[in-house]
Amino acid sequence: MPASTSAAAPSARRSGRYSVFAIAREAMRLHRGWGRAWASPEPRSRYKVVVIGAGGHGLATAFYLGRNFGITDVAVLEKGWLGGGNTGRNTTIIRSNYLQDPSAAIYDKSLQLYETLSQDLNFNVMFSPRGLIMLAQTEHEVRGYRRTANANHLQGVATRWIDPAEIKRLVPIINIDGPRYPVLGGLFQERGGTARHDAVAWGYARACSDMGMHIIENCAVTGVDTADGRVRAVDTSRGRIECDKLAIVVAGHSSVLAGMAGFRLPIESLTLQALVSEPIKPCMDVVVMANTVHGYLSQSDKGEMVIGGGTDGFNNYTQRGSWQHVEETVRSLIETFPMLSRLKMLRQWGGIVDMTGDRSPILSTTPVEGVFVNCGWGTGGFKAIPGSGWAMADLVANGRPGPLAAAFGLNRFAEGRFIDESVAAGVAH
Ligand SMILES: Cc1cc2nc3c(=O)[nH]c(=O)nc-3n(C[C@H](O)[C@H](O)[C@H](O)COP(=O)(O)OP(=O)(O)OC[C@H]3O[C@@H](n4cnc5c(N)ncnc54)[C@H](O)[C@@H]3O)c2cc1C
Repeated sequence: MPASTSAAAPSARRSGRYSVFAIAREAMRLHRGWGRAWASPEPRSRYKVVVIGAGGHGLATAFYLGRNFGITDVAVLEKGWLGGGNTGRNTTIIRSNYLQDPSAAIYDKSLQLYETLSQDLNFNVMFSPRGLIMLAQTEHEVRGYRRTANANHLQGVATRWIDPAEIKRLVPIINIDGPRYPVLGGLFQERGGTARHDAVAWGYARACSDMGMHIIENCAVTGVDTADGRVRAVDTSRGRIECDKLAIVVAGHSSVLAGMAGFRLPIESLTLQALVSEPIKPCMDVVVMANTVHGYLSQSDKGEMVIGGGTDGFNNYTQRGSWQHVEETVRSLIETFPMLSRLKMLRQWGGIVDMTGDRSPILSTTPVEGVFVNCGWGTGGFKAIPGSGWAMADLVANGRPGPLAAAFGLNRFAEGRFIDESVAAGVAH
């Protein structure tokens, strides 16, 4: 690993280690001794690396820059609040059962990192590998998912095809005999599951702050200053900040930021919505995706059924839910999950997702030297946060992609080397 940080690196602060002993100690002093999980410093005028976007991917990029490359002279700039973008709005599905080899490699790296993330961050991210089933409800899907199971086998990603009887055993509330879309089988990944989305952002933020990095909320980037084809600084709502390297990690706003830096991205921004029901007793302990009818659900620890569907049918930046979407998504799932018809829906919301044509992400150098982009995770990037951060840190530190990111460069769109995940992305979560 290269040597550490520039001389001007911010000094490290520690929030204190969380442990059973810390809980006992704090219980004795009425919990008055807990420090803030991360600091809120004033921005400095210069950092070695500036990361735009304090979502999961931006924070994970910063974390692995410090952890893997010793680079801690880093600022993460966030226009709103930490984790307030898609990272705090998603339905938390984690899996790595993708079709193409480069996808399987990065998503499975991510899943492996999730498996020890609570220990690595010393922060409980509530990773719950409860198992995930992608239902096949047409002959076309049967062929598609059997093919994915075979591909996963060759990639070393453990998934298996299961029959309707096993699905009924795993998901007692399911109706496998639907007249329109009977359940014909499913692709099962036992290591798949969920994690607490906010905790993932908070855990990374705390670890970055402990390494001395600056996480600066309420700091919108309004311009990117370049000279002679390389980055010099960013203009922000809290002043100008110079940097040697700039990582743009802003999901649905990627095209806006790329425009500021003077290049274009093959990205469309759309709102993706989700909703939760009233809480009910535990009735389903796996995640189920029904891609033909375009809906999926899991049960949260609070008992709510967490439900999602497809993106809005038109590009937009609204970040809101709509009644029509609730009705459409629940209606499409009722044949397979009849109990949903008797549930009240509590909340709905939306996030702005960044879609590429091949439904695969972009981790890339750009036409501007020193500027790197990480985007295009679309409707399925929560599961990728640790793996993406790992690969992006490598890209930023070394100035060229490592093995995990190599296939995801911007040049694939010019050269026609698409990584088509439109089937494995399914409803796309
Ligand atoms: C409803 C919904 C359900 C989903 N379900 C799943 C799921 O089940 N599983 C899964 O794997 N994925 C899911 N996703 C996708 C997943 O949430 C995203 O792919 C992932 O969270 C993207 O993380 P990010 O860090 O790239 O983006 P974000 O979390 O959106 O972070 C980007 C940040 O950049 C900030 N920013 C933007 N512009 C600027 C600027 N000019 N200056 C400073 N900061 C700026 C934003 O405020 C934001 O906080 C879902 C998404 C949605 C919306």
